[in-house]
Amino acid sequence: MVSIPTRLEQTRARIAAACQTAQRPAGSVQLLAVSKTFGADAVQQAYDAGQRAFGENYIQEALAKIEALAALRTQLQWHLIGPIQSNKSRPVAENFDWVHSVDRLKIAQRLSDQRPPQLPPLQVCLQVNISGEASKSGLQPAEVLEVARQVAALPRLVLRGLMAIPEPAADEAAQRAPHRALRELLARLRTELGAQAAQLDTLSMGMSADLEAAIAEGATIVRVGTAIFGSR
Ligand SMILES: *Cc1c(COP(=O)(O)O)cnc(C)c1O
Repeated sequence: MVSIPTRLEQTRARIAAACQTAQRPAGSVQLLAVSKTFGADAVQQAYDAGQRAFGENYIQEALAKIEALAALRTQLQWHLIGPIQSNKSRPVAENFDWVHSVDRLKIAQRLSDQRPPQLPPLQVCLQVNISGEASKSGLQPAEVLEVARQVAALPRLVLRGLMAIPEPAADEAAQRAPHRALRELLARLRTELGAQAAQLDTLSMGMSADLEAAIAEGATIVRVGTAIFGSR
């Protein structure tokens, strides 16, 4: 199997090439390495190869890794990208730097209430069901503005932007459509929220299969698992 450092290097090269094609500055896209189902040893290998931001889907699994890598805690950024049940919000507020998967006001309120005062505010994105799939979590696009207004007012959160997991599509043109829709939704939010939108700069979109399409449409964080760690 190809090693994690090599796969990481290949992924960085894909991102750099996509930035160049899109005429965007190199470094305008952050790579979030999605380490779900892989152990702390895999995270450590990626860390040794220079990776600092890691995405996790499952809270219990993530907490074990955060604990195992506690010595590196100040060097690492932990991002939760999976669903949160309300009764699991406290460990999220206490242990993560970012949450991409805020999909209702109640969760945001709990995260704000539970964010420890000694930590910086939690950076959050609203997850949007951009492809309109019945089974997918995320806010409907029409709900986003109202929820964003309320989340932006919460004291211990910083609303950073939007996240989506579009329906898989085969070719780049089809992949770009939902990413474009998310970009346009963020632009509308920035206009509507005005001064409340000061830090609304994040489009979390693009995974192993579609990161080029996402970068072409303005992704600022791509969330890549398989291409770095292998298949799950
Ligand atoms: C698993 C996952 C990813 C990474 O997907 P890959 O196809 O393995 O790159 C990205 N985002 C979310 C929300 C995920 O659950």
